[in-house]
Amino acid sequence: MKPTSPRAARRQAAKFGKGALTLEELAQRVAKARVSGVDKARVERARRILTSYLQTAFAHQIPAKDVLAEMASGKAAWRLGMAVRDELMKSPPKVVQEAACAEGCAFCCILNGGEGGVITAFEAEQLHTALTPLAGQPDGRAWHPKGCPALDPDTRSCRAYDARPMICRSFISTDAAACEINAEGGKEMGAGLLGNHLDYLLVLALCRAALKGITQVQTYSLADTAALGVAGADGIADARQKTSALEIACHDALVAATA
Ligand code: SF4
Ligand code: SF4
Repeated sequence: MKPTSPRAARRQAAKFGKGALTLEELAQRVAKARVSGVDKARVERARRILTSYLQTAFAHQIPAKDVLAEMASGKAAWRLGMAVRDELMKSPPKVVQEAACAEGCAFCCILNGGEGGVITAFEAEQLHTALTPLAGQPDGRAWHPKGCPALDPDTRSCRAYDARPMICRSFISTDAAACEINAEGGKEMGAGLLGNHLDYLLVLALCRAALKGITQVQTYSLADTAALGVAGADGIADARQKTSALEIACHDALVAATA
């Protein structure tokens, strides 16, 4: 594809062509990347996680263009968030041991906030692919007007379980009754996001900052992506969020983590 402007030509060259970034240059960009408005210690923790990912890529001689693609799509953030979650689960915190979560309990799948949460392009593609074969079937909105379209309205189980995004894997509660109240706008205690979620968001924010001028790191609305999937829509472009959505999500996750 021919670049449409000198700036686009430079971006294309940096991504794929002559002068393409090396892993060392990617690591330098990560080292300098800034995420503002969030506790510095948490940003540095996410930077260490992303840096160790780059070191692993270097050790395994993964091509820099593949690493760049994973950082841009959010697959890197997703993989690293899952790795932190797996580590956490080796010695489950009290909230996990006492979780009230069970199959068919789906108050957390009532997407009250409108967009339903921030997800990466990688996750949005996965979710959309899992849901398009279900186009035309009754969905979660037949159970509750704000139900996630990925829900089965009868069993209230997720019909895209293996493709569910990080936010669905991170949300947990010790009190299903509190979740029911919160789903209608309440502020009951007992439900929240596991710590891996903030790491995932901050790694994504660092990827965005590190790749500035090369490629855009987009985020997508969970609710809109799922709605597009069950509508059989061609793609996920209409679920793309404003840049500020990731900043707001990082801020909210930090507040939730320190609450
Ligand atoms: S987070 Fe709340 S609503 Fe969701 S499964 Fe757990 S207890 Fe049920
Ligand atoms: S994708 Fe699945 S787990 Fe996530 S909100 Fe929708 S129905 Fe619930």
